[in-house]
Order: sequence, then C-alpha cells, then structure tokens
Amino acid sequence: MTQLTLITDSSPLPAETTDSLATVVIPPLEGEYLYSFSSTVHPELSVGCVIEVQLGRRTVPGFVLSTNSPRERSASVEMTQRGIKIKPIPAHSRPIPAFLEGHLGFFEWIAKYYAEPLSKIIDLAVPRPAFSKKESFFRLTPELPQGRLGAAQQRVLDFLSSRNDWVSASEIRQNCDTTPAILRALEKKGCVISASEAPSTLLTTSPVQPQSRFHDLSQEQQDVTTPMRTVVAGHQFNSFLLHGVTGSGKTEVYLELIIEALQHNRSALVIVPEIALTPQLLDRFESRLGQKVAVLHSSLKPHERWQHWSDALTGATKVVIGARSAIFAPMKDLGVIVVDEEHDGSFKQGEGIRYNARDLAVVRAKLASCPVVLGSATPSLESFNHARSGKHMLLTLNQRFYTSRALSFDVVDLNRLKPWEMPSKSISPKLLTLLKDTLDKGEQSFVLYNRRGFASYLQCGTCENVVGCPHCSVTLTFHRNTNSLLCHFCGFTTPPPIACSACGAKDPKACGNAEAEPLFKQRGAGTERVFEEISDLLPRARIAKLDRDAVRSIDDYTSILQKMRSKEIDILVGTQMIAKGHDLPDVTLVGIVDCDVGLHVPDFRAAERAFQLLTQVAGRAGRRERQGYVLLQTRVPQHPSLQMTVASNFLGFAEQELKMREMLGYPPFQRLLRVIVGAEDKAVASSIASIIAQRAQPSCDSLEISLLGPAPAPVEKVRNYWRFHILFKAHSAAKLQTLMQRLKSEVAAERNARIIFDLDPQDML
Ligand code: ADP
Ligand code: ZN
Repeated sequence: MTQLTLITDSSPLPAETTDSLATVVIPPLEGEYLYSFSSTVHPELSVGCVIEVQLGRRTVPGFVLSTNSPRERSASVEMTQRGIKIKPIPAHSRPIPAFLEGHLGFFEWIAKYYAEPLSKIIDLAVPRPAFSKKESFFRLTPELPQGRLGAAQQRVLDFLSSRNDWVSASEIRQNCDTTPAILRALEKKGCVISASEAPSTLLTTSPVQPQSRFHDLSQEQQDVTTPMRTVVAGHQFNSFLLHGVTGSGKTEVYLELIIEALQHNRSALVIVPEIALTPQLLDRFESRLGQKVAVLHSSLKPHERWQHWSDALTGATKVVIGARSAIFAPMKDLGVIVVDEEHDGSFKQGEGIRYNARDLAVVRAKLASCPVVLGSATPSLESFNHARSGKHMLLTLNQRFYTSRALSFDVVDLNRLKPWEMPSKSISPKLLTLLKDTLDKGEQSFVLYNRRGFASYLQCGTCENVVGCPHCSVTLTFHRNTNSLLCHFCGFTTPPPIACSACGAKDPKACGNAEAEPLFKQRGAGTERVFEEISDLLPRARIAKLDRDAVRSIDDYTSILQKMRSKEIDILVGTQMIAKGHDLPDVTLVGIVDCDVGLHVPDFRAAERAFQLLTQVAGRAGRRERQGYVLLQTRVPQHPSLQMTVASNFLGFAEQELKMREMLGYPPFQRLLRVIVGAEDKAVASSIASIIAQRAQPSCDSLEISLLGPAPAPVEKVRNYWRFHILFKAHSAAKLQTLMQRLKSEVAAERNARIIFDLDPQDML
C-alpha cells in the first residue's frame, strides 16, 4: 500500500469542520492523500465518490478510497504529532458517486497483479464527470425506494414525475421552492439521480417490449444453457467455456442467461470485441431484453461515457455491453458476465497498463460470485487448456442453428499454377468460377486478403533495395488509391520515390519516359489490388471493400454491412474485419486469396491466429439453409492451421498445437513476462536491456524463472525507437509478479529509455 501523503495547510480551521477524514487518490499522481471534511457539510461523501480537492493551488478531482478508518486515524495522529495540519475538502465541492465501494477489491487485485499503483488502476477504469460550474440535472430513478419523505422532498418528486425527464436544478427550484440540500438528500435516498450536464437521451426513451425469438432454443442450445442457468440462479461463481461452432447461436444462449439474471433482479455485463459493437448488436439486445442497455467503449465522448457509466452505477440500466474497458463497468449485483469471441486479441490492452479483459472477467466474476461465460468458435488455447484441466467447464455447440450441412471446403495449391494460368495475379481459375457462380445465383461472397493497400512493398529493379519506413524497421505499403507509401506501424506516409535511395537509379517515368517499365516493382498484394482484380474480371458485380482504409468510423462500417444485408453489394473484399461475427443470410461463398499472410511471422501464436482467422472467416458462409463454400488459396497446403480449418477440427488443432507449446515451454504451459526497452539510441536500448537482464538474473535463479534474451525485438525499430526485449518464462504468474515488482522499483530511474512490462503478452513483435 502506498504511503499516505501529508497535505498541509497553514490556515487553522475551526474544530467542528474537521470531524472526518478521507483517503483520496488523485490520478495521474501515484500516491494516496489525506484530507479532512465535515460530516455535516458533506454527509454524502463516501468511498467511491469523486470530489474536487485542493492540491497546491490547483483544484483537482480526487477519488475517495476510504473514510474514518483506522488508517486515516493513525495517519492523522502522525501528522498532528509532527505539527502538520490536514487540508480540508472545500465546503462547496460536491461529491459525485463514481464507483462502488464493493469494486475496490477488484481494482486492488488488478493493481497487485500488474504491479501498478491503485491510483493508476482507478484512472484507467473510472471516468470522471465534468465538474462544470454549470448546473445539475435531475430525474426520478426508475424504481422509487420506499420510505418516508418530507413535504418539500415529496413536492420535488411529484414535480419530477410530472415531467418524466431530466430537469435542471434551477427549474426545479422555480417550481417547487426547494434547496440544493433537499435535492442532495433525495439523491442520497436513491429517489433521484443527477447528472452534471444535460444528459443524452439514454433514459428518456421509454422501455421497449421484450421481443421473443422466432424459434425455440435448439436441443443443443438448451443443453448448454441449463447448467449455466442454474449457476446464474444460484448466484455462484463458475467459469464456462462455450465452444460453439460459427452460426451455432451462441448469442441466443447469452441472451437466455441475461434474461435469467434480470429475472433474479441482477445485472449483466457483456464484453465483445470493439468492432462488434454495431447499432445492430445493440438493437438486438435491447429488443430481446426489452430494456435500454448501456454501452461502453473507447470512442465515446467523455460526457457520453460518463452518462452510460453513471446509468450503470445507479442501476438505471441493468445491462452493459462494451469493449475491453467495459470490464470495469460499475454494476452492482452482477448476475452473469459474458465474453464473446473470447479468443479475440482486442481484449488485451496494447499500451499503458496492459490488462486482458478476458482474464479480468474471470477475476471479476469470482469476486462478484457470479458465472462467467467465455464463448468462441475458436477458443484461445489458454482458455481451452483451462477447460481441459477442469478450471473452466466446457460446453459445446456442434451444429449450426439453421443447417446441419457442413461447409464445403476446397484448397487451391498456388505452387501448381503457372502465372499464365491465373486469370489475374491473385485470383485462381477456381476462385473466379465460384465467384461467377455465386453471382449468377444472386448470392453473395466474401473475399479475404488480410493486408491493406495495393502492394506490400516496392523494390528497386536495379539494386533490389526495398523501400522501408525511415522511422520503423518495416517496409512501406503502396496504396494506389492515394498514390502513397504508408507505414502500417507508425502511420508515416510519403509519395512513391522517383529515385532509389540506395543505388541512385531514377524512375524512367520521372524522366518523361511514360512508356518504359517503372523502376520500382510492386511486390505482394493487398485488399486494394484484389478489389481491382475482381472488378476487372467481373465488371457486372457490385464490389465493396472493408478494411481500415475504407472504414474510418463505426458509421462507415455499419453502412457497408447494411448494404450487404440489403444486397446492394455482391462481393465484399476485406481484411480480417470481414471475419468478425457477421451473420449475413445470403453469403454462400468465402474465398481466401492468400491463407499464408501472417503464417510466417515470428510469433509463437502465428499458427493459432491463422487457424482462428481462417475458421472465423469460413464461418461467414452458408449461415442459413443454403450450402456454404469456402475456397482457400495457399502455397503451404500441408500447414496444420489450414488442414484443421478444412477439416473443421478445432479439437485436433488444439491438441496438436498444445503439444508443441508444451514442448517449447510457451503459454498456456508457462506464463510469460515480456520486457521491452526502447530508446532513440540503439546502443542505449541494448545496454539498458542488458542491465535489466543482469539485475533480473538473481531473482530468476531463486524463483526458477527462465530468461531469454535480451535480443532485438522482431520489429527492431518503431517510431524511431530501437527496441530490445527480454522474455521471462515461469510456471506461475506469481513468480513473474515478484520479479516484475523488483525490476520496476530498480529500473524506474532509467530516464533515457522507455521500459515496458507486459505480463501475459499477446504481441511478440
Ligand atoms: P454464433 O454467434 O454462434 O456464430 P449467432 O448467435 O449469430 O451464432 O446465431 C446464428 C443465427 O442463428 C443468427 O441469425 C441467430 O439469430 C439465429 N439463431 C440462433 N439461435 C436461435 C434461436 N434459438 N432462435 C432463433 N434464431 C436463432
Ligand atoms: Zn513507420
């Protein structure tokens, strides 16, 4: 626990104003601070409130961690002995509930696990209201608590119930002769909720009628739901891995459990990959549940985020759906937590505190005594191994909801095709035929190429030099739409060069010779190129592209999916974005132009990711009654990720891959801590990495941790930072935490380098 910091104030205070003490964190500061306050001025100040306090000459928001406990008392005794006065919380500051006292344990757990101060965890997890000097808004809570009210309080409630909407404090005052204290008392009793600015209309739309399903649950769906439902009803912890093939109806199972939780007057939390948070998904939940759901994700504006957050906190909304950060959602009485597509890499935070929301979901469920369901068609090997060892209960949906027909797979071995046999550079005759047939039948196709742009890189025809990013050790991708070279790591962009920086050769075009061969050869392909090739081959088809260049916002994304649904698009070409969860009835063909993209990256999870991607994208085909076809083009037809995809054999893949991981000592058999040292000077990065490794050695010896490296990271330079990494492996996370704790306290002083500690890393580049 961090030492309490003594906040002193030279002006003496009247004795009666300091009858209470509070410990407060003030992110981003790491320490914990002691303040005094008066329980008559601030009767509602309690753990989990955020309140403005003085820090030096500034007014800053602080989160209350505890009040009037032995901890504050002993700190204050010490301060008194040393003749230091404790600073009071200003009388005009208004405490606003920000998190539940009951969630402190969860935050403390995270702080300990990632060896970070509690203040940073609260900073990460809890949004701040706008402390504007503008006025507050009030409205009735949906369910009025019982209890006696004063006449003035009753007047306010009557007025608010006549309005049934947010009403500003001044309007209330004009209409019912009230004071701020009366409003605060009503809020404390739970009769009204307040917001610090005119809130969005989250609650102002009236509740919708729950819609029932068109079909009953299938037998399989019932079989997996029953054991989970029992645990929801029993308010117990248990963790389930729901392995349901694509299209098996996992979402219906989640909804069933959420309804069960709501019937027990409990709340529910659903975490999905960011990209899945479309208006359609929210509609589907709201209409089936017959109530508003709160939404939490990273692209909300601060006031929207606060609004959804505080609706969950007050209980105004009982269901929260969100991306990674929603794992912190402030709901009481959790009845169930669902993590959909639990294998998805987006649950791991890539910067700052590198938490994994999927793993935290299990921790949170345990602390809240409720079940957690991890669902996927392609479970992560970590989760699957937990299911094998009995830590999670494994439940399986083997059949698609609408059809018992298996997908039909076909593999094209590109090694056997001569360039002149190909209708275009990337499209094989077979894929073209299938695309044509699908088009003729009035059905739709997905075409996956998991790389953006037109060419992966440009290469000088004279000296074979490859054009790289000046800031990163990667090649620049050629984007023809914008006629530019783009670094997919740092975003650097530049027009294509007119001369080679290595040999000085000039592009003939730049010298006015438009007929000549260009100097730079375009190597590799990308979605842009595949899009063009298909457009040339099938001029009558309506083709669209789905990747990060085509989709700048959730609206763009939704509109493309909407066009697919209304059949204004025949063929959708895209990156892994097209693999994510889409349930489009008329897609019957999935073509994978190059299965090998990503297969050869230096990451022990490469095969797992390839299997997941191929299986997920294949699962977009044939989701209704009609037969689905999947065509895979590859140069390594024997690769297990591909073979097991074609055999629809997750278990086979998992067994085989787990054997390999066990042999090599990788997760899930060992835990990893990755330390990355970055510095602008390569020698500095390298030497600091060596120093860290040396300092770590004694701990590694005593804790039985193996140390690999230091070595240059596979991507050696990013944004002008040279990167070296060290990998620590151990049989338990606890050992790695001990090591991390020690290293953090020792190497904090290295000022000319960035040191990143990544416990349970997902990214090895
Ligand atoms: P998954 O997430 O497992 O890939 P979905 O939950 O998207 O699958 O379900 C696939 C399709 O089947 C969806 O269109 C869904 O609405 C439908 N479906 C699944 N179960 C039911 C059910 N019990 N009643 C009606 N439709 C269902
Ligand atoms: Zn770059």
